[in-house]
Amino acid sequence: MNQQSNIADADKETTARTKDCEEQSAVERDELDSGRKRSEAKLEPYNMNTCPLCASPLKSVHIGGRDRIGCSKCEFVYWNNPLPVTATLIPHDDGLVLVKRKFEPFVGWWCLPGGFMESAEHPEESAIREVYEETGLTVEIDRLLGAYSPGRGINVLILMYLAKHNSGILQAGDDAEEVRTFQVSDLPEQIAFDLHRKMISDFFENGTTK
Ligand SMILES: [Zn+2]
Repeated sequence: MNQQSNIADADKETTARTKDCEEQSAVERDELDSGRKRSEAKLEPYNMNTCPLCASPLKSVHIGGRDRIGCSKCEFVYWNNPLPVTATLIPHDDGLVLVKRKFEPFVGWWCLPGGFMESAEHPEESAIREVYEETGLTVEIDRLLGAYSPGRGINVLILMYLAKHNSGILQAGDDAEEVRTFQVSDLPEQIAFDLHRKMISDFFENGTTK
């Protein structure tokens, strides 16, 4: 889950936010900017200098109403499609399971367990795997709560799931600093990602599970 991608034009912010969240979002934007700079090199799969098919120089091409990167000699176009990522709400002990992040962006902040889908993986399979890897819990998917684009140039598609805890005990995995259940009364101040904050807030305020 330490992977991040970017595109040039940011979408409009779609999440309604409180004042606190707006302040946090300013921090989030700064964090994301620096996170993007740090990870830029490994995020561009071909380093965007030469064509991965024929090694000719790349150039800007205008296709489908957008400027893209394409090959100057062959048909290659870098479409820069969003990467699918899962996030999962797991009700547990009258609260929700959150993970303390071990990697950029937002090291040390809390978020819902989740991460990037692997090749040829079913989205539910991906959500279950990420939950197990990060929290030690085996879960069963209850339902898909929605598909979201975070905007602000963050090029991912987030699939938000609600899951039921089946077995296993909470134990931080290799890519989590810590994992625990939070009740509404003791939610941490530093929760990463606008969408995660909104889903956590909805869960406690409106009862996502109902
Ligand atoms: Zn080429």
